[in-house]
This record gives sequence, structure tokens and C-alpha cells, in this order.
Amino acid sequence: MKAIFFDIDDTLYSTSDFARRARENSLRAMINLGLKLPLNTLVKELNEVISEFSSNYEHHFDKLLVRIPSRYYQSINPTTLVAAAVIAYHQTKSKELKPYPDALKALKALARTDLLRGVISDGLTIKQMEKLLRLGIYPLFSPGAIFISEQVGINKPNPKLYQRICSELTLMPQDIMYVGDNPLLDIDPANKIGMITVLFRRSKKYLAVKGKTKPRYQIDNFNQLLNILKTLMK
Ligand SMILES: [Mg+2]
Repeated sequence: MKAIFFDIDDTLYSTSDFARRARENSLRAMINLGLKLPLNTLVKELNEVISEFSSNYEHHFDKLLVRIPSRYYQSINPTTLVAAAVIAYHQTKSKELKPYPDALKALKALARTDLLRGVISDGLTIKQMEKLLRLGIYPLFSPGAIFISEQVGINKPNPKLYQRICSELTLMPQDIMYVGDNPLLDIDPANKIGMITVLFRRSKKYLAVKGKTKPRYQIDNFNQLLNILKTLMK
């Protein structure tokens, strides 16, 4: 084995928990400014906006407000509410975006080995890079080993994304371990080209999702990953 690659979202940190907290803090900021609806009603409406317009849509809070009768924020300029929500979102980002503690520990341990360490992530380049920087883990990866689907021009689950990383770094798939949480987007395509796959089950988001192929290993925390690596590298 020569390299280990990781997915970012719900693998290196809890994307789902973070997003829930950030959205709730944003909605609370709107309520504090005078938006007269209960938090749970707003959470439900905002989740609908996100599922209808995608999580990368730039105007979630504007859309939320146009969906609500304006009597609930009478005499408040809606843009003030949106600005408050955006501020609260960014404050949550700078305070609460943290890697799983055992993921951080494992990345630090890996940085002391000869293994090449990288990222294969789906999403918008700037957003994914921002996450790596804010999580404080960017320096733990090898130079030139961070691949974001938008930047590569190939999205998960196309196995060409994984193949491309092998050719870019002149590595054989069987020498690369890939750790991800999604059976369909992470495990199946990496298996297809022959990588050593590890399904990370901590988020429990995909417990009911069955991939077409089985991961080589399944883990619930990063200590288990370090143990697998110890056996493999003996
Ligand atoms: Mg993921």
C-alpha cells in the first residue's frame, strides 16, 4: 500500500451535525430580529428549500423568506434578516467546524509515515477547500493530493474520477486505500477500479443503503482504521 485517500463530508467531520447547528443558529438570529415564527417551523421550511434548490444554492435564506407570508416579518427589511442569518452561519463555521477528534489523531499519525495522504471529494472546489482549511487538516495531506470533483471535471460516482487520481500520481489502484461513508458514491466506484475500500459508518446516514459491491473493510472510528493499517503494513 502506498497511499490513503479520504472523502471529506461525514468522513473527516460531521457535516450533518454541523449543517443542522449552523442552520438553527441562523434561524435563531432571524427570530431575534423579529421574525415571528417558531424555530421548528422555520427549520422545516428551510430544509424544504435546501432539498428543492440543492445545498450549494446561494440564496437559501432569501428563498425561505419569500415562502413565508410577509406579515410574519412586518416592518423588517427582509435583507436585514438574511444578513443576520448569513452572519450567524459564518460564526458557526468559524467556531464549530472541527474534525472528528480520532480522525485528526489518525491523520497526524499517518503524516508521520511514508504513505501519500490525499482527499477525493465531491462538491464545489472553493467550498471543499475552505472546509479543509477551516478544519485545520489541510497541512496533514501530501502536496498535490487533493482532488475535488468540480476541479477535476468528473463527479462521483464516475469511476473515472478515481482512475484519474491513479494516473495523475502514477499509482496502481491496488496500492491505494479509500475511506468514505457513502456505499454508492465512495465504495462502489473505488471498488470498480480495484482500490482497497473502507466504509466509514459513523454518521449512520447510509446504514440502509446497500452498494452493488462490498467494502473491503468497515469501520466505526479511526482507531479501527489505524489497526487495519498496522496489520496491512507489517
Ligand atoms: Mg461523504
